[in-house]
Amino acid sequence: ANPHESALLEDLNAPQREAVLHGDGPLLVLSGAGSGKTRVITRRVAYLVKVHNVYPWRILAVTFTNKAAREMRERLVQLLGAQANELVVSTFHSAAAQILRREAEHVGLTRSFVIYDDSDQLNVVKRAMREAGIESMQPREILHRIDQEKNAARLPEHMQVAPGDERGQLVRKVYAAYQERLRAANAVDFGDLLLLLVTLFRTRPDVLENYRRRFHHVLVDEFQDTNPVQYALLKQLAPPPSANLVVVGDDDQSIYRWRGADVDNILGFPRQYPGAKVVKLEQNYRSDQNILDAAHEVIRKNTRRMEKKLWSERQRGQTLNLMLNRDERAEGQEVARQILALQREGFIKLSSMAVFYRANAQSRVLEEALRLARVPYTLVSGRSFYDRAEVRDASAYLRLMVNPRSDADLLRIINIPARGIGDTTVERVTDFANARGVSLYEVLSQPEQIPALNGAAVKRLKGFRNLLESLTAFAQTNEEAAGAVDQMLRETKLVETLQAEGSDESQTRAENLREFLGAAQEFDLNRAAAAVAAAANPPSDVPPEVDAAPLTADVPALQAFLEQISLVGEADAEVGDGRVALMTLHAAKGLEFDAVFLTGMEENVFPHSRAVKSESTFLNEVASADGEPSEEMAEERRLCYVGFTRARKRLFVSLAQCRSLFGELRYNAPSRFLRDVPPALFGISEQEVPEAPRPMVPSTQRRRTWDEDDGPRIDRSYSQASSDMDGVGGDVRGMRVRHEQFGVGRVVSADGNGPNAKVTVEFGGGVGLKRIIARFLIPG
Ligand code: ATP
Ligand code: MG
Repeated sequence: ANPHESALLEDLNAPQREAVLHGDGPLLVLSGAGSGKTRVITRRVAYLVKVHNVYPWRILAVTFTNKAAREMRERLVQLLGAQANELVVSTFHSAAAQILRREAEHVGLTRSFVIYDDSDQLNVVKRAMREAGIESMQPREILHRIDQEKNAARLPEHMQVAPGDERGQLVRKVYAAYQERLRAANAVDFGDLLLLLVTLFRTRPDVLENYRRRFHHVLVDEFQDTNPVQYALLKQLAPPPSANLVVVGDDDQSIYRWRGADVDNILGFPRQYPGAKVVKLEQNYRSDQNILDAAHEVIRKNTRRMEKKLWSERQRGQTLNLMLNRDERAEGQEVARQILALQREGFIKLSSMAVFYRANAQSRVLEEALRLARVPYTLVSGRSFYDRAEVRDASAYLRLMVNPRSDADLLRIINIPARGIGDTTVERVTDFANARGVSLYEVLSQPEQIPALNGAAVKRLKGFRNLLESLTAFAQTNEEAAGAVDQMLRETKLVETLQAEGSDESQTRAENLREFLGAAQEFDLNRAAAAVAAAANPPSDVPPEVDAAPLTADVPALQAFLEQISLVGEADAEVGDGRVALMTLHAAKGLEFDAVFLTGMEENVFPHSRAVKSESTFLNEVASADGEPSEEMAEERRLCYVGFTRARKRLFVSLAQCRSLFGELRYNAPSRFLRDVPPALFGISEQEVPEAPRPMVPSTQRRRTWDEDDGPRIDRSYSQASSDMDGVGGDVRGMRVRHEQFGVGRVVSADGNGPNAKVTVEFGGGVGLKRIIARFLIPG
């Protein structure tokens, strides 16, 4: 027997083993939180390599965040040693970016394309709208619709717009112009990384074939959160019915519907891959039984789910703690106090504690309280460093160094540091470039051709263009990211300018730029180490028709560095040593902590007010017969399940009687999710369950109270809720509905409210748009 075999299998239970040992063909591992799904993926990869002698370069493993990918890679290095370097372990986005870069020429890009983020995207949308003379819609809304189209794998020409849907037509027009602008700038957005690749594979089977020949095993963690374009890519690389595609996930943890994720992907997997083996894991290794019971009571209220009951050999553990606070400040203080108490008890380290919240805005008060109490913490909000203005400026210069056609970047720094190029000049330059359909960089080569510019302006523009030329030239000869950053900082004088300002703030910003240089140095070191490892371990036994090189081979350092920065996500910050982690519930996915504090457990905070509202709209009125909650509410519930199940030993849930949030003072009732947990799990009696608060302040001081609230009461029946139903307008757009005859669709718009409202729904399966009376529809 292979000596590795027993080592890789010994600490797995029977179904986990079955999943690791599974031979060829599709496999679905569907199971609840903490049951070892992620462990199964890593073990299976190691098993394939060590026992089945699968070449590591044949394996593609995809996870949801960079952080998860890094952790998986580290585990695999432990299990496989140097061979782990040949694996592709990555997020969907970075795998797609790497493949797209190799194939850039096929999609009208060059290999040095840059990746635009949210704020770059918004700028491009605004410019496309201005040019098309569209003012009747918000740029944000259009961008959102564009993103949704991309998540659904639709290019402008594939958008389905009803003849009478004027807004839809506007969106399509802007979407098309937006794509053109991106292409002209040699730029892509996040959605493009996947959409362009899927489109390329669809139109060029020969290109796809190269990757199919290489990757014989594709494995996906957190499969419940894949959106249609990601699923399309998986199906291309590992086509039904028989490819070696292993997906693991938990339908109860699907929390990215707002990014187009579709929980049906996981439930429908056996239909897409008939004959797929399905393995269910039921033993939870993470949480004490009390925590599991509470999580189960919350999630079982969702109707469209796979029933799974998790059991644990772990002890029942301590009861959950319910923390009832006066307001959000008191909540912060109490959290800090409890953290210090846990630490004093000596069993739980700060680094295995976490504080979760529903909305980013809640972190400010929590941070203040922790600072005051001297509790060290890390705010897990990975993008914050790279989103700082000065860091974005520096990145914009770097991106221009590899890709001077990137107009969004050029506009960002054309007058940073200040060089006397004013708004009017910029407008003239832009108009001139637009009229000729060329990039700003290009027109800057002959600024004297631009009408109505005075001599001084022309001179300054020339100076700016010279600076960019010198930087681009440098980038072409330099092989290190840090070298490029250093040169850029020197030539642009970004740091000196900040230092000369002399304020505390500008000093901090200058330090951030030095830190940015540090990040580039670290990147170079890692890259050098990876190159050494790769050279020592070239892929072996590669057939001549297969390209088994690392996907990042031949990408210049600066480009690779920029790509890494672009793909840093919300959940990617390192959880620091000896520090409590603060993060949103969304960022907590896949993680585990000994002690978890879930704050803001109030109606309209968690569940989010949007979900609370969605429930009081007419559609749910119709659905109340079978008690099905709205999709929004179901998703909040799943988020709560994710939050609870991160905890190993201690779970604290806290709420405030009144809370200022988003600039509003509100008295919210306790979260319905609290009511779902049997009081005994908190160690309290039925009578001690918190009630909706009665505000004790004079009425002039309160802007809103529970009594005036527009949300439904906790125990108010659906029929009562109908009396004060909201207008349906924006609340239901995008909602999934079902119709007896037409099947499943999404609401496009609604006229009126109540059960007799007329709703336009876009149905799938070739049915298209239909106008339907609300009472004939069922959500979900
Ligand atoms: P989530 O749904 O939250 O992503 P998961 O199903 O991926 O969870 P893992 O993170 O793989 O679960 O495992 C949860 C914990 O249980 C980890 O600490 C893991 O090391 C441990 N674990 C998993 N399987 C076993 C096992 N057979 N024996 C002992 N510990 C295990
Ligand atoms: Mg996991």
